[in-house]
Amino acid sequence: MTTDCRGSRSNEGGSAGRRNIYGCVLETFRRLGKAPTPSEIAEELKVTENVVIENLRALEADGALKLEPGTTAILDAYPYSAVPTKHIVQLPDGSRLHCMCAIDVFYVPFLTESDVSIESRCHYCDAAIRISVDDGAITGIDPPATVVWDSAATYDCPLTNFFCSQEHLRLWNESAPAEPGQQIELMMALDRGRVGAARISRELADS
Ligand SMILES: [Zn+2]
Repeated sequence: MTTDCRGSRSNEGGSAGRRNIYGCVLETFRRLGKAPTPSEIAEELKVTENVVIENLRALEADGALKLEPGTTAILDAYPYSAVPTKHIVQLPDGSRLHCMCAIDVFYVPFLTESDVSIESRCHYCDAAIRISVDDGAITGIDPPATVVWDSAATYDCPLTNFFCSQEHLRLWNESAPAEPGQQIELMMALDRGRVGAARISRELADS
């Protein structure tokens, strides 16, 4: 397999090299729905595997991605997950990407500059939830009362989920009263995605 990281510049060291590797990781996730291996990145960018691994560890220290503990396999890179989740974003070309949480899904339309269909499930009753984003705006919500619990827990945000209604969020919250976080509307989750994607784009563009 080739990672085919189009547009990436080769043979650059330092921060430019790190940005190329980060860009390659995100581009491979977007196209293939999976993370590249260090050797695939090395082959694509014409650098040594050691350079790739060193930079992946630095990106992990920066919070940009996460490696499987004790290995060099990429587990996730905001907003994408190499491990299947219930938060799925479908692009116009039909590719389906697993995202880490109910806010990360909203990074994808801005990061990929695509209209997207989001599929997830209510964290309380498991009902299907579908959201359409076109031209950077939410154009469809089913069920219409869907809300997001914005978890204040850290990096891999396992509890930032969709709920089919405020009532189901409330019932879940009653069972987990110590859980830090807050309910937010979908518009706010979309804005968080827009801001997060812009930050990633700036990091990739810095020179
Ligand atoms: Zn529900």
